[in-house]
Amino acid sequence: MTHDELLAFDREHIWHPYTSITDPLSVFAVESASGVRLRLSDGRELIDGMASWWSVIHGYNHPVLTATLQEQAARLSHVMFGGLTHEPAVELARSLVDITPVGLDLVFFADSGSVAVEVAMKMAIQYCHGAGRPEKKRFLTIRSGYHGDTFHCMSVCDPVNGMHQLYAGILPKYYFADRPRCRFADVWEQEDIRSFTQLMEEHHHELCGVILEPIVQGAGGMHFYHPEYLRQVRVLCDHYGVLLIADEIATGFGRSGELFACNHADIVPDLLCLGKALTGGYLSLAAVLARREIGEVISAGEPGVFMHGPTFMANPLACAVARASVQLLLDSDWQGQVRALAQGLEQGLAPCRELASVAEVRVLGAIGVVELKEPVVMKRIQTRFVEKGVWVRPFGRLVYVMPPYCMETEDLKTLTTAICDVLAEEQLP
Ligand SMILES: *Cc1c(COP(=O)(O)O)cnc(C)c1O
Repeated sequence: MTHDELLAFDREHIWHPYTSITDPLSVFAVESASGVRLRLSDGRELIDGMASWWSVIHGYNHPVLTATLQEQAARLSHVMFGGLTHEPAVELARSLVDITPVGLDLVFFADSGSVAVEVAMKMAIQYCHGAGRPEKKRFLTIRSGYHGDTFHCMSVCDPVNGMHQLYAGILPKYYFADRPRCRFADVWEQEDIRSFTQLMEEHHHELCGVILEPIVQGAGGMHFYHPEYLRQVRVLCDHYGVLLIADEIATGFGRSGELFACNHADIVPDLLCLGKALTGGYLSLAAVLARREIGEVISAGEPGVFMHGPTFMANPLACAVARASVQLLLDSDWQGQVRALAQGLEQGLAPCRELASVAEVRVLGAIGVVELKEPVVMKRIQTRFVEKGVWVRPFGRLVYVMPPYCMETEDLKTLTTAICDVLAEEQLP
């Protein structure tokens, strides 16, 4: 198939994420990738600012991860997890229990982030049922959140961005506290938690869980909020007997500058969702970690088991590559790399602050965000980025990057310069 034939068939027959079939955005064909570079099938090379949506933290085609995958494929690619287990799952679970906040001792493997969120929410409901409080089966969350695309995940995504209107009457109605306004490095203002506290006071008797993204709200707006907010959420959850679900699918594995974003506030959630960077971007895998007591209460209640079991649960290929990815991370100077990226993003994106079209530039860990006053024109801006040799995929008013941790200073400079240049030319009359 020629490059053009490939794109033509794709255009006619294949859905891409969040795109129209009749008015599609352009799609670029990737032939291979290595380090921080994507090689297009027309021969062009792009420096990747997206780490394939937070996941490729070690860069593409990492020799250790590729070898791990090949060795595992030669031994055992898949086997059902009902009644059977294997070393990759056990070793990965051991690593995850080791590195996540103390007390999260049970691991449930799922196939994607959205499924992990579904599983955590089901665990909260089954826990309250098992604890003799079946009336506690609703959730409280914060606005501007994003927790995935399946039905129950949608019900806790931001009600406006999440298009709850379209699904009115189908999605369960949950409670939404105002989004935290106090920024990560601001002076804390107690007012910030008021709406959350009020909803807790009014509704705790029907709440089984609070779900939120700790510190970094990802696809719902890319906001970085104050650790004190999270600390107080933890206290309120304890006070009212509501489980705290931390969705670290985007923030897990060092992205925010701590191994897990909960560590910024020194809190331990009751349930923790991981995904995205778990396999270093090689395969889809997610996990839910839970306190042992949650498992015990669920197992003591009706029907005596946790009611979930994906066909591809704990896939050995995914578990093996995830375990190797976690080990690579721990053996690397990821703190130093993330700090260097933060500095490079801060410096490199600073000129955007001068542009009239820009509302704000913010950086936390290896995440850089340029928030515009108006939504970008995707068709034009995407092509301009590619012409500049970088891969950046904005959405709405947000132009943001989260590069692989191994990105060198020079490449980061090319990336941030391209963002500044493209945004500057976009605002020419
Ligand atoms: C991406 C994401 C999800 C959904 O994960 P998928 O693997 O796309 O299903 C859930 N929560 C957060 C915070 C995410 O960033």
